[in-house]
Amino acid sequence: MKRLLWVLVGIALFGLGVQGRGYAQTPKHVAVHAGHVYDVKTGKMLSDQTIVIEDGKITSVGPTAEARIPADAERIDLPNATVLPGLIDAHTHLTMDPKFGYEQLAISTPREALIGAKNARITLLAGFTTVRNVGASGFTDVALRDAINAGDVPGPRMLVSGPLLGITGGHCDNNMLPYEYHAVGDGVADGIAAVQHKVRENIKYGADLIKVCATGGVLSFGDNPQASQYTLEEMKAIVADAHRLGRKVAAHAHGSQGILWAVEAGVDSIEHGSYIDDAGIAAMKQHGTYLVPTLYLGDWMIENAAQTHLPPPLLAKAKEVIPEARKNIAHAFASGVKVAFGTDAAVYPHGLNAHEFPVMVQLGLTPLQAIQAATLNAADLMGWPGKVGTLDPGAWGDIIAVDGDPGKDVTTLERVKFVMKGGQVIRNDYAAQKGNF
Ligand SMILES: [Zn+2]
Repeated sequence: MKRLLWVLVGIALFGLGVQGRGYAQTPKHVAVHAGHVYDVKTGKMLSDQTIVIEDGKITSVGPTAEARIPADAERIDLPNATVLPGLIDAHTHLTMDPKFGYEQLAISTPREALIGAKNARITLLAGFTTVRNVGASGFTDVALRDAINAGDVPGPRMLVSGPLLGITGGHCDNNMLPYEYHAVGDGVADGIAAVQHKVRENIKYGADLIKVCATGGVLSFGDNPQASQYTLEEMKAIVADAHRLGRKVAAHAHGSQGILWAVEAGVDSIEHGSYIDDAGIAAMKQHGTYLVPTLYLGDWMIENAAQTHLPPPLLAKAKEVIPEARKNIAHAFASGVKVAFGTDAAVYPHGLNAHEFPVMVQLGLTPLQAIQAATLNAADLMGWPGKVGTLDPGAWGDIIAVDGDPGKDVTTLERVKFVMKGGQVIRNDYAAQKGNF
């Protein structure tokens, strides 16, 4: 019942947000009093802290006794909670739901956009105040980002890729229909001139970054996750154009040759990285490339295989790749590659993003390293260091709170009870305990 009440309060809040164009509702000054702050730089728990926010940005953070709180500030008291920066997921597909194979063909582009509006809200309520969305059809992700920024729908801050670049017949093409239907993925482009055109076209229609399929994938027909797809030359052309135009490049890559080529071509992140080997690890360390492992999806897919109607050839690939990926990613963690947090949410229901944390810890990261992957590192990968993933002055007022110490138990992040974005309270399960500090 209490839960239902908060859902209703949430709906009421969002109703206001829509009428008032979102950020117009944000008070000019906000002071958040936190019983504890988890310092994502050091892993230390700091007690009795106050964060002051002005016009949506953090202006100070420190001991409450020393805080200068403007007289008109809205005060939010979280005396028993642990506060952290809003979390970042560097690999989402907000406009998609867990529908696999032929089920996907029935989803129109306008329907995909509405699915995105639903999932943006769910993701924000789960404590993810920023996402990097790496693949959507028909620029539905651009529309969603712009609608969120306009305050029309609630959701996280987004950087979006638009359609994924890929080869004909590759992971990012549509391989489900026979020749006479001429079905082609939005981002399919072969050869240097065509990939250059596709990068420029994606940027023309609003992409913040470029996503490229360097190898085959798991949830696609007729391709092999271990086989490289784009050539080194094609990927070099993609990266050169993207970087020249101020966009980073994320590469979907499972197989070891595709990982190596993508890193040599200069991509900014390797997504999944299932068959990463020592050569790939060495190249990533040399180039400073981020690894964005997406691990929890494997657990979820195997557990829910019966309900997901996963077509048998895709399930067979999943069963083959997932155990290998866990082994190889654990080795990459131990070897010290840079890691940014990502989930591939859409392969499983949105909102479960934080379930990635315990799997990262299981495979060798410390809780602090896993939390840094979803804050400092993901912010760096997105090109927003100092703006997201931190509570330092100058950052956007994106704050979450949980019970307990996430440095001891990362599963606390699966139960986020307070979310603020840009100084606006999105969710506050603690409000019943409201005090007057
Ligand atoms: Zn993905």
